[in-house]
Amino acid sequence: MRIAPLLAALLVLAASSPAAAATTAIRFGKLVDGTGRVFTNAVVIVQDDRVQSVATGNPPIPSGAEVIDLSRYTGVPGLIDAHTHVTYYWDGVTTPRSEPPRHPAIAVVLAQENAQRALEAGITTIRNLNAADGTDLALRDLINMGKMAGPRMFVSGTAIRITRSPGPPAPVGLVVDGVDAVIRGVRQVLGSGADWVKMQGSTGGFDDLTQFQTFTFEEMKAAVDATHALGKKIAIHSYGPAGARDAVRAGTDSLEHATDLDDETIAEMVRRGTYYAPTIDHNQYYIENADSVYRFAPGTKERLAAFIQRNVDTARKAFRAGVRFIMGSDAVYNGWGLNARELEWFVKIGMTPEQALKTATAEPAAMLGMEKSLGAVAPGFFADIVAVQGDPLADITAVSRRENIRWVMKAGRVVVDKTKG
Ligand SMILES: [Zn+2]
Repeated sequence: MRIAPLLAALLVLAASSPAAAATTAIRFGKLVDGTGRVFTNAVVIVQDDRVQSVATGNPPIPSGAEVIDLSRYTGVPGLIDAHTHVTYYWDGVTTPRSEPPRHPAIAVVLAQENAQRALEAGITTIRNLNAADGTDLALRDLINMGKMAGPRMFVSGTAIRITRSPGPPAPVGLVVDGVDAVIRGVRQVLGSGADWVKMQGSTGGFDDLTQFQTFTFEEMKAAVDATHALGKKIAIHSYGPAGARDAVRAGTDSLEHATDLDDETIAEMVRRGTYYAPTIDHNQYYIENADSVYRFAPGTKERLAAFIQRNVDTARKAFRAGVRFIMGSDAVYNGWGLNARELEWFVKIGMTPEQALKTATAEPAAMLGMEKSLGAVAPGFFADIVAVQGDPLADITAVSRRENIRWVMKAGRVVVDKTKG
């Protein structure tokens, strides 16, 4: 009789897994739920990884529930950073981008530190756009397996780009030229397990503020169509207006960085519902670290500052026209943890704090096709909840500054707790 040992083994397994569902009741002084509602003296009941209910006052607490008292704080939905580079790791010693090459497995392990800083900044979901050697795919899967800590990840794998002079540092990306190669590149990226496609539609990045369009309209259209045919979405990077115009006309789902957008392109973005991640703060971060970390050439800081001004002007124009915004930090290296500073720029261009918060909750959730499970503290949604010091609807720095992030829950598990001491 061979069945008995097997049965015994199964019974042991069953006994070691939690029999009863884990229930948590969390009290907040105030809760901004992400759907436009604000609760005073809120009680959020979390069952396993999901929010079960949200109420105010003294609702009945399920027996056996763990009660967490965060009534000193304001609760907000876990934040979504829609443009990151989690595998761009800085060891604090070398100059970023000139480190010795690292084995992909090492890159994955090191990226955990960036992922942890994201959690500490209240970021519970990221869309990561470009990583070498499948390291983003690996990190995403390890986090989903519970083997590593970090935000939930939607990843592009390696970006697709055109042939360019391979001056050091060697560009990361899949090099494709012409419509056929672009289609093959898109299929290869998605076949490898990527959730999104990232296309480099112009030059520009780091201290490089050039804005030359790279892919043609036909190539962008081919990439968009090949991506959509496989049921996925695409983000096109363009620092300049020409690449942006063609990216929008080609039907990109999101446009990254672009400055100097013309009125027609902005109107087209409104018509199509194209998401826009202007990534303003990353250049401010480069300015702050230009000498101490990056050792940029003289004059770079001034050029970055001028670019920020154009970036801000373009974003203001797009916001007034009704373009859909998403918070994208473009976080790299020691910029991790500063992810939500982008929201302060959004307030500067005219958003209310509530509108700014939406660009890191409801808007990117909808872009990711996760509007029923991310971006709100509401029944049925993932229990991604952040407790902040202050009132983000009065002052956005309550969520944008990492020192105000006191406690973070991701999918029902407490991943950051700075409420004591
Ligand atoms: Zn980027």
